[in-house]
Amino acid sequence: MYDIAIIGAGINGCSVAYEFIKEGKRVIIFDKEGIASGGSGAAGAFVSPKFSKAGELKEMLHSAFLYSYDFYDKNFPQNFTKAQLVHIAKDEADDEALHIYKQNTQLPLQKIPIDLQIQLSEDAKKREYVSIDAGVVDAQRVCNDMVCGAKFVKEKVETLIFDDDFWVINESYSARNVVLATGAYDMLIKEPYIKLRGVWGHRIDITTTIQNPCSIHQYVSISPSDEGKIAIGATHNVHFHPEKNKEAYDIEQGRAELLQKAAKTLNLENVEVIQDYMGLRSGSFDYLPMLGSLVLSNETLLTCKGSLHVKKPDYSEYVYYPNLTMINGSGGYGFVLAPYLAKILTEHILHGKKISERISPARFFARWAKRR
Ligand SMILES: Cc1cc2nc3c(=O)[nH]c(=O)nc-3n(C[C@H](O)[C@H](O)[C@H](O)COP(=O)(O)OP(=O)(O)OC[C@H]3O[C@@H](n4cnc5c(N)ncnc54)[C@H](O)[C@@H]3O)c2cc1C
Repeated sequence: MYDIAIIGAGINGCSVAYEFIKEGKRVIIFDKEGIASGGSGAAGAFVSPKFSKAGELKEMLHSAFLYSYDFYDKNFPQNFTKAQLVHIAKDEADDEALHIYKQNTQLPLQKIPIDLQIQLSEDAKKREYVSIDAGVVDAQRVCNDMVCGAKFVKEKVETLIFDDDFWVINESYSARNVVLATGAYDMLIKEPYIKLRGVWGHRIDITTTIQNPCSIHQYVSISPSDEGKIAIGATHNVHFHPEKNKEAYDIEQGRAELLQKAAKTLNLENVEVIQDYMGLRSGSFDYLPMLGSLVLSNETLLTCKGSLHVKKPDYSEYVYYPNLTMINGSGGYGFVLAPYLAKILTEHILHGKKISERISPARFFARWAKRR
């Protein structure tokens, strides 16, 4: 019997595993493909805040950035490269947003280093930019290191049955708690109010004769040079889904798009693509992550009949799956959010600490129930 079973070994599942292992708990983690094989394996894994004017997601990402930067630096320095980040505006509206960001941020601002300045395109040089100290994670390695101490099972989870006081997984494993960290690939528990948007992304590693000292974000993200290698990512394709499309993904087209966008920022020379990475990001429909317990919709519709249409529903009245939570919907910020959310989820499961209603999956139940 395990204390916790985690389904999905992307950065979200692995971060939760890490927190539970640290607490001395028995952890089992499943993935149908392998560790960091979904969106997490494809990610450039830049750790940065969101450079917009204002908003709930921006505020959360700011806190998550500060937390996760320290987290990777302290716990996984071997998998974390500190690098100056240069975020360049794409257009005039972006110029204004970055200008406002710079006036309001508490983060120490940097200047673009001269050796990068001379390599930027003419368009990029004219634009507003924000530069701060940030970092890049080695996605594959960090996920592998995080689950050291857990039992990893390469298996698709097909069945989850609650038997009295514990969950039985694939009729073979049992655990007191289950965390669903399945990204955009599969939602094992089918509830009508849980809807996630899968956005396909393609990233490439290239060799080039130029040296880039910084992480650069403009039309795409460009990593600092690492032994002559630079990562460029990522495309945002809402039409392709590996489990739904009949036609294969067009890799050549994806490469061309990435190189064309990168060339709008940086004068790249003698480029050769050496590796492709692809995967799905998983986003919620209000862009905030989904963290916490899942509402049992049929049971809640029956028990809360009279109070489902009130302006401010009381989520504590809802009926929830026992000892079952989810961590998902991180969109393009999984590596920024995962350590921060995993900590919150662990404190919730082990010590009953409340999770903000703004990121609780129950908010989607409340909206869905009202619309019915
Ligand atoms: C190209 C690209 C570039 C990106 N760049 C960045 C970036 O620079 N910075 C950043 O912070 N974020 C970035 N992201 C986003 C980030 O990768 C995601 O937010 C993050 O990977 C989400 O992690 P996850 O653990 O929720 O999902 P995933 O990594 O997708 O993991 C889910 C796992 O669940 C497994 N699974 C699903 N169902 C089952 C089942 N029934 N049984 C067993 N296993 C199952 C899947 O095999 C998969 O491995 C990028 C994403 C992409 C695609």
